[in-house]
Amino acid sequence: MIYNSLNKKSKAAEFPEAVVRGIAPDRGLYFPEKIHRLPDSFFENIEQKSIPEIAFQAIAPFVEGSIPEDELRKIIAETLDFDFPIVPITNQMGTLELFQGPTLAFKDVGARFMARCLGYFNKENTSQKITVLVATSGDTGGAVANGFLGVPGIEVVILYPKGKVSEVQEQQLTTLGQNITALEVDGVFDDCQDMVKTAFLDEDITQHKQLTSANSINVARWLPQMFYYFIAYRALKKINKPLVVSVPSGNFGNICAGLMAREIGLPIDHFIASTNINDVVPDFLSSGVYTPKKSSPTISNAMDVGDPSNFIRVLKIFGDDFDSLKETLSGFRFTDDETREALKEIHEISGYVADPHGAVGYLGLKEYLKDHPEKYGIFLETAHPVKFLDTVEDTLNIKVDIPERLKDTLSKTKKSIEIQDYQGLKDFLLR
Ligand SMILES: *Cc1c(COP(=O)(O)O)cnc(C)c1O
Repeated sequence: MIYNSLNKKSKAAEFPEAVVRGIAPDRGLYFPEKIHRLPDSFFENIEQKSIPEIAFQAIAPFVEGSIPEDELRKIIAETLDFDFPIVPITNQMGTLELFQGPTLAFKDVGARFMARCLGYFNKENTSQKITVLVATSGDTGGAVANGFLGVPGIEVVILYPKGKVSEVQEQQLTTLGQNITALEVDGVFDDCQDMVKTAFLDEDITQHKQLTSANSINVARWLPQMFYYFIAYRALKKINKPLVVSVPSGNFGNICAGLMAREIGLPIDHFIASTNINDVVPDFLSSGVYTPKKSSPTISNAMDVGDPSNFIRVLKIFGDDFDSLKETLSGFRFTDDETREALKEIHEISGYVADPHGAVGYLGLKEYLKDHPEKYGIFLETAHPVKFLDTVEDTLNIKVDIPERLKDTLSKTKKSIEIQDYQGLKDFLLR
């Protein structure tokens, strides 16, 4: 499969090159040249197929020619090595829990898939390691660190802002060891992000090191997120109602994967982009004008994105046709107060403890279903409530149980290297 840059200036790339580069040299996002469709018969007996088999059929055409079948099946089995339960909330909706992976956030699937692809591509090349350089404001770093842990030929360097991530998140970044190094930056997230961008353009470094990024612009992190939507459809087909999915969205990688799943044939009736007050996309859907903004902090902070990178891919899926986009995608935005009220409401009606991101997804779904009572909906639960412990416990007046695997992480010893500025990062990379 060939990938083109959406900025149209760089050469097309095969899947491995697109994964190793992350972003095209013209700074455009990679997008598959062809979109295959699965036959209708595939969906007729989908409930009898296993999840790894479905995942294999969905993604195989996107990696065609670069990973042999048995290897791809192995990568998928390891990527999806945990549960994806659906919990009923009302008789018209449920939630799909995507947080049962090792770092308790949905980013585990993309990070694990990408890590294994990169490990496979780099297997023959023992002389040059690939360095994954990533800045994190919290969840991405943990999922990437965990996904790449112990992958041969790959070194991972994570930059995080000192004192600005939660205790759980910091422990997930700093206690793994092996091929993972955490750099604690004296600054804010934007400083970390700037340093990473500078390093990618610094020839002193790139002459010696093959650098790549691991955020959702990377095709190997983006596309495996299609699996969630297949899993949902497989479980809910028996309800025999049009299925709508509400996705708590920030950088729009997850929902864009859902729309891609639909594009290859998955019968999902409608998508809802649910955001916090960082509402560029809901605003675009109602006004037709795309106006990026500076991001504002909220209690659903993994969605505090003012100019979502993946939205350009969403437009591309719809051939830049605003009307057909609006037929398939609705958008709603909610404040922190509304999100807290939703946490309480979900708990009252069902006993379910959601996290703030899931609660935003719930609100978007509820809004949409008001006008479409004949449909069935799910909202995605993108993080375990324990990752946003203070907000959830204060709002619901309850204690949230800490999962066993997290207790283990919390008891380990933190190891990080403090750096003051860009020179600190450069010295580390060239050491
Ligand atoms: C990253 C993240 C999101 C947003 O996902 P996008 O793909 O960036 O839209 C939502 N919820 C949680 C918990 C996240 O970590």
